[in-house]
Amino acid sequence: QAAAPLTSGSEALFARARAVTPGGVNSPVRAFNAVGGTPRFIRSAAGPWLTDVDGNDYVDLICSWGPMLLGHAHPAVVEAVTAAIARGSSYGTPTEGEVALVEAIVARTPVERLRLVSSGTEATMSAIRLARGFTGRDVVVKFAGCYHGHVDSLLAAAGSGLTTFSIPGTPGVPASSTELTLVLPYNDRAAVTAAFAEHGDRIACLITEAAPGNMGVVPPAVVDGQGFNAFLAETCRAHGALFISDEVMTGFRASPQGQWGLDGAVEGWVPDLMTFGKVMGGGFPAAAFGGRAAVMAHLAPEGPVYQAGTLSGNPVATAAGLATLEAATPEVYDRLDVVADALRAGATDAFTAAGVPFVIQSTGSMFSVFLTDSAVTDYAEAQTTDVAAYGAFFHAMLDRGVHLPPSAYEAWFVSGSHDDRAVQHVLDALPEAARIAAAA
Ligand code: PMP
Repeated sequence: QAAAPLTSGSEALFARARAVTPGGVNSPVRAFNAVGGTPRFIRSAAGPWLTDVDGNDYVDLICSWGPMLLGHAHPAVVEAVTAAIARGSSYGTPTEGEVALVEAIVARTPVERLRLVSSGTEATMSAIRLARGFTGRDVVVKFAGCYHGHVDSLLAAAGSGLTTFSIPGTPGVPASSTELTLVLPYNDRAAVTAAFAEHGDRIACLITEAAPGNMGVVPPAVVDGQGFNAFLAETCRAHGALFISDEVMTGFRASPQGQWGLDGAVEGWVPDLMTFGKVMGGGFPAAAFGGRAAVMAHLAPEGPVYQAGTLSGNPVATAAGLATLEAATPEVYDRLDVVADALRAGATDAFTAAGVPFVIQSTGSMFSVFLTDSAVTDYAEAQTTDVAAYGAFFHAMLDRGVHLPPSAYEAWFVSGSHDDRAVQHVLDALPEAARIAAAA
């Protein structure tokens, strides 16, 4: 039985934070609203370990929600960032670092031209604007359970029917912002076909997570040898709409070429536009959108579609991103697979022994554990996961020095720095935590 760690330092900081910041956090899921309790305020991190202000160590399975592919404070990233910041942190004029980072992304992906921004939200927002500007059409198709950042038109909940337009998913988004958004069930080809049959000549673009990770990992289903993304690319092309593949989470993580490396590169299709973030910023605010040269040519200052950013292509962020991509060698990706395999096997053993219904779903080394009894193919099925059991499991793992994502609907992120000791620490914690989940 693990003794609950001392958390008085985190509690004091959380109280201070709540007095001045809504919910005490700068992004909602950090507040532990889904699992209860006090978020741990982190003082430092190294490799696979987080250390909180009370001195507790945790194996990190959040990895900043994806970016920390190499682990924390990787020497190559620290060196690149330190050198960059010593040369000044932002100029508002072009730099060689931006060119080098964009070249590195172009070399690893099917995009021909790319624009740097500072967050995944900006990337998807800008990609949609560009798709609308390029096609001269207004309607956007997205899937329920896919998250693309907090873009007004994408914070949409499904309307009353499959081909009816959606309603705002949050107060503060005007109905006029989502009335041109169609929300469909993921992996549902009939729904996509019906939506395009009814509205095809008005659809500017379809945006999807390349492999959804924000409802837990839901792989794009293969039907008769054709992957869901290939089907979407083909459907979009047939109707003159652009296919936007959001690889903010999967990019440079699911494989060196992201999710596209696992399906598009194999099947021989290319998205019109792609969005990236997380790993390509190496833990700094850098993201990007790019794609076919003919589409990107419509972007200002070359074309008429406006988009800009004071800190876009920031020299420190681009140095971190480039250092991360360069250090992400084949050995790193091999290690991600080894770590993910070990954790999937350990979780399988623990939940099986404890009699907890579970499903583990993956794309590459990105995986998530649904506490439910059958495969999850869309958002409705994801919601059958046992949230209370996950909360108990999460806290049992936290008490044993493992920091999982504080939400039942998230991927567990691993890094190349998760060494055997870190992996063993997780494996040792799993059996008792699974028994606690069983009792919840
Ligand atoms: N797209 C996807 C697939 C994401 O996972 C996220 C963030 N989790 C975003 C877009 C938004 O990125 P950001 O939080 O950097 O705005």
